[in-house]
Amino acid sequence: MIPASFEYQSAKSLDEALRLLGRHGDEAKILAGGHSLLPMMKLRLAAPRYVIDIGHVKGLDYIREEGNQIAIGALATHAQVAASELLREKCPLLPETAAQIGDMQVRNRGTIGGSLAHADPAADYPASILALDAEMIVQSGSGKRTIRAAEFFVDLLQTEIGPGEILVEVRVPIRRVGEGMAYCKFHQPASGFATVGAAARVRISSDGKIGEIALGMTGVSSKPYRATAAEKALRGKKADSESIEAACAKAAQGVEPLSDIFASSEYRRAMAGVFARRAISAALARAGNHARIEEAEKPAARKSSNGKPAAKRTKGKRK
Ligand SMILES: Cc1cc2nc3c(=O)[nH]c(=O)nc-3n(C[C@H](O)[C@H](O)[C@H](O)COP(=O)(O)OP(=O)(O)OC[C@H]3O[C@@H](n4cnc5c(N)ncnc54)[C@H](O)[C@@H]3O)c2cc1C
Repeated sequence: MIPASFEYQSAKSLDEALRLLGRHGDEAKILAGGHSLLPMMKLRLAAPRYVIDIGHVKGLDYIREEGNQIAIGALATHAQVAASELLREKCPLLPETAAQIGDMQVRNRGTIGGSLAHADPAADYPASILALDAEMIVQSGSGKRTIRAAEFFVDLLQTEIGPGEILVEVRVPIRRVGEGMAYCKFHQPASGFATVGAAARVRISSDGKIGEIALGMTGVSSKPYRATAAEKALRGKKADSESIEAACAKAAQGVEPLSDIFASSEYRRAMAGVFARRAISAALARAGNHARIEEAEKPAARKSSNGKPAAKRTKGKRK
C-alpha cells in the first residue's frame, strides 16, 4: 500500500530535530529505523504531515558504561545491542532480547529508541526494560527528564513521551553478583513478534532463597506489565519447581489478555505462565552460576581452614 503524502525532513543534529518537532507539533513524526512507522503509514494507520528523520544524527548510537549503569543511545540498533560485548558481560538480558527480535534485516535497521517509543504490545524490549527497572531519558527544547520503566508504557502504542520530546537514551543497571536474567518468548511464526514474552531478573540471597525477583511480561495484554502477583509469590521462597509453577500461574493475574487470530485470550493467559516459568528457571540457573563464578574469581578473600590464604585454585582440572 502507498502512504498518504508527507514532507520528509532530514535532521542533521538532535537540536535540529527538536526544533522541527517543536515547529510542527502533532503533525510530525520522528523516523528512526522506520520498521514500525513506515508499515503504519503504508497501512494508513499513521498519516503524519511531516516525517523528521533522525537516522543521520551522529553520536546517538553509543553503548557505554556510566557509573553503575549502561547508557544506550536511542539510535543503537537491535543488532548493535545483540552484539555488544559490554552488555553481554554486564547486562546480558538486553542482548538476549535484541537477538530474538524479527530477522536480521529488522535487527539491522530497527532501533531501541524506536521500539520503545512505538510501544507495540507484542514488542520484545518492553518486558526486559521493565524487569531491569530501566530509565528512559527524553529531551525537548527545554531540557531532559528521566522516565522510569514502570511509568513509561501507558497503553497500546502510547508512552509517557510528551509532545515535542525525543527519546535520547536508555539506562539499564549493571548486573550484581548472584543476579541472573533471561528472556523467553513464544514467537509469532511469521513476523517473529512476541505472542507472549517473559523477562526475569532474579537474585539469590545468602540463605539460598529468592531474594529479589522482577518479571516483565509482553505480548499478553495491550501494554507490557510487571507480573507483581507472581513476583510476590516467589520473593523470599525456596526456588523449587513447585513454588515456581504455582507463582507462574499468576503471571497474567489482573490483566485482560488480548485475543486475536494468533492466540485466544485463554491461550495467552496459559502461555504467560509457561514462558514466565521458563524465564525464571533460566534466570535462577544463571544466578547460581554467576555467584559461583564471582566467588571463584575472588583471590584474597578465600582462606583455608587454618586461617591462612588458600592456594590459588587452578581452573579446569580437579587435583
Ligand atoms: C517484519 C518485521 C518483524 C518485526 N519483528 C519484531 C519482533 O519480533 N520483535 C519486536 O520487538 N519488534 C519487531 N519488529 C519491529 C521492529 O523492532 C522496529 O524496528 C521497532 O519497533 C521500531 O524501531 P524503528 O527504529 O524502526 O522505529 P520507527 O519505525 O522509525 O519509529 C517507530 C515509532 O517511534 C517513534 N520514534 C522513533 N524513534 C524515536 C525516538 N528516539 N524518540 C521518540 N519517538 C521515536 C516514531 O515517530 C514512530 O512513531 C518487526 C518489524 C518488522 C517490519
